[in-house]
Amino acid sequence: MEKGQKSQGDARRRRVQRLKKMIMLSVLIWMIFPVGLCIVLFGKIGALNRQVEETQDYQQQLLQQISAAVAQQEQLSATMAQQDQQAPLLDRKAILVSAPVVGADGQNGDMAVVEPEAAHKVYLTFDDGPSKYTEEILDILDEYDVKATFFVLGKETEYSIEMLQEIARRGHTIGMHSYSHKYAEVYRSVEDFSADFYRIYSYILENTGIQSTCYRFPGGSSNTISDIDMHVFADFLAEQEIEYYDWNVSSGDGGSVLLDVDTLVSNATSGILGNGTSIILMHDAASRPTTVEALPQIIENILAMDDTVILPITEDTTPIHHIK
Ligand code: ZN
Repeated sequence: MEKGQKSQGDARRRRVQRLKKMIMLSVLIWMIFPVGLCIVLFGKIGALNRQVEETQDYQQQLLQQISAAVAQQEQLSATMAQQDQQAPLLDRKAILVSAPVVGADGQNGDMAVVEPEAAHKVYLTFDDGPSKYTEEILDILDEYDVKATFFVLGKETEYSIEMLQEIARRGHTIGMHSYSHKYAEVYRSVEDFSADFYRIYSYILENTGIQSTCYRFPGGSSNTISDIDMHVFADFLAEQEIEYYDWNVSSGDGGSVLLDVDTLVSNATSGILGNGTSIILMHDAASRPTTVEALPQIIENILAMDDTVILPITEDTTPIHHIK
């Protein structure tokens, strides 16, 4: 019985010890596992932190690059704006890109007309219009079936625009004579000249669809008003592919004294037979009533001359230049 009790006690001790070992082992496992996990996780966290730092550095670099690019662009825009201010010269070809082009069938919008052969070619030119006499002048020209050239100004009244369109409709040539005709403004600088040129060019284009290619300087290229050498403005027109026309015959109707009809007729017609090309200066202006009165006689005298034709200015016309 004692022996049996003893062996029972041994067996229990062994069980208890096995149990202890198992508990110890479990505890050990449960301690090692989290520690190992912690070590692994800390390692991961460290790696992630480094990645975050690298990303932040990269982001910082990107932001710096973006702000540098923005600054560069701003500088570029500022430079371009400055260049725009420094170069206000307007280009006729640039105007054409933005302006609507309306066909001007057979009128001076399409000036590829071959001039008839004649020993004496006469061009009647009227400056400063439209005026209250425009329609009367047009009717006289129609009566004799001759075409003339009107070097017009930028007059914005409804009547003036109507007359401008009437000049075009009846097949005469429309030339530019500056927008403002104010010498002090037009000839102040090449920039002012260019701005005025742009205005008269656009005024004609917008109201008639005609791309005028001829110009008469206010006062002519030989005017003594401009402080700037007129070659500068002539060169500007040449760059725009615009021809300018002075005159070699003057009716004399532009002076301070109003000339009588006979004097105008005599001035306008004498000397024509000595010229291959005669460009006659006249005015379509409210202050020049005798020009309208003299016009029928001027036309009749010219038409009576041998081998002489009256023509509108076209790109074929030999220009008369006062300055060489
Ligand atoms: Zn004038």
